[in-house]
Amino acid sequence: GHILVTGAAGFIGTWITKTLLDNNYRVRGTVRLDSEGLYLQDLFQSFQDSFTYAIVEDVVIPGCFDDLLDGIDGVVHAASPVAVADDPQELIRPAVQGTLGILQAAFKHGPSVKRIVITSSVGSITGDPPPSDSETQFLTENDWNTVSVPEVEKKGAQAAQNHKYRASKTLAEKAAWNFVKENQVNFDIITIHPVMVLGPILQPCAAPENLNLSVSEFWQTIQHPPNGRTDAELVKYRSNFVDVRDVAAAHLEALKRAEAGGERFIVGNGPYAWQDVLDALSSFPNIPRGQPFGGKGITPPTIHDSSKSKKVLGLKYRPLEESANDTFLSFLNRGWIQ
Ligand code: NDP
Repeated sequence: GHILVTGAAGFIGTWITKTLLDNNYRVRGTVRLDSEGLYLQDLFQSFQDSFTYAIVEDVVIPGCFDDLLDGIDGVVHAASPVAVADDPQELIRPAVQGTLGILQAAFKHGPSVKRIVITSSVGSITGDPPPSDSETQFLTENDWNTVSVPEVEKKGAQAAQNHKYRASKTLAEKAAWNFVKENQVNFDIITIHPVMVLGPILQPCAAPENLNLSVSEFWQTIQHPPNGRTDAELVKYRSNFVDVRDVAAAHLEALKRAEAGGERFIVGNGPYAWQDVLDALSSFPNIPRGQPFGGKGITPPTIHDSSKSKKVLGLKYRPLEESANDTFLSFLNRGWIQ
């Protein structure tokens, strides 16, 4: 099959592209800059003509996907802002318009498209954490974030950063499910909901300052004081974790498996504290030690249940230790660590 991957030069998008190519798909990737496309062409040169790229400078440009669907069997839509912003619309507009744009394009100009896999987030599932002294809440694909959108409507730029991002993912996903309900489309959709994604980097990225947001948090964790994290930050629950290669595998399996159509899938492998990352890296020289094993045994406020992804998509998840190790090695590879 021939798959269009939007956001192909992103942290997750690069791995999705590689995973599809490794599994004998052809990929047309969208990137914002020609330099990113050339980087990917070089990275994937062993796949020869199976990888091509097209430039989509901004997913909000009307009709930007219309000419890219010729002969395309399936789409992975991963391009969406993961960033800190004052104005929540800086996140919401590209998230919603990008998602609607790709659906609209497939509806009008993509007669061969059978399936669209959308990279959503647990941000569209997770509302407020439970009160601090209560038990862990277990969230599944039946849950929706009902908190962030009203929060952003009420507070605008003053809303918390995570609510702005989660509102963008919630609104984009709702728009997608509504679109396929209201239009006679020839394709089905699937939404993938990763928790915090870590893992080795493959994307074009010249320096640590340019890292995507989730991996930049990992980078900060391995810095020594005063640039690193406080002990208190290290040993508290951070979120749930998943390796980027497993997120890519989720998109591949979602494209392949008929029974996955029309479903939401959480992809995640359990809770972690940043200290767990330092513990996993303790055999490398010059890594801060923090509070060794101080992150073990914490009570997570939230666990995202990923059993459906194991059952329907057949996913097996890498442990944090492997992911932390390979993330670190990918920094070494770039010469970012002496
Ligand atoms: P990246 O920032 O690396 O990837 C996002 C990609 O989308 C980038 O290439 C970015 O380009 C592009 N993009 C953003 N806005 C636009 C726009 N307006 N027009 C065109 N392209 C745009 O982050 P990730 O790889 O982590 O994110 C990929 C997807 O995964 C997103 O949908 C995100 O919401 C989702 N996700 C990520 C999680 C994580 O922990 N990393 C967790 C859950 C979901 P540029 O960098 O040039 O702006």
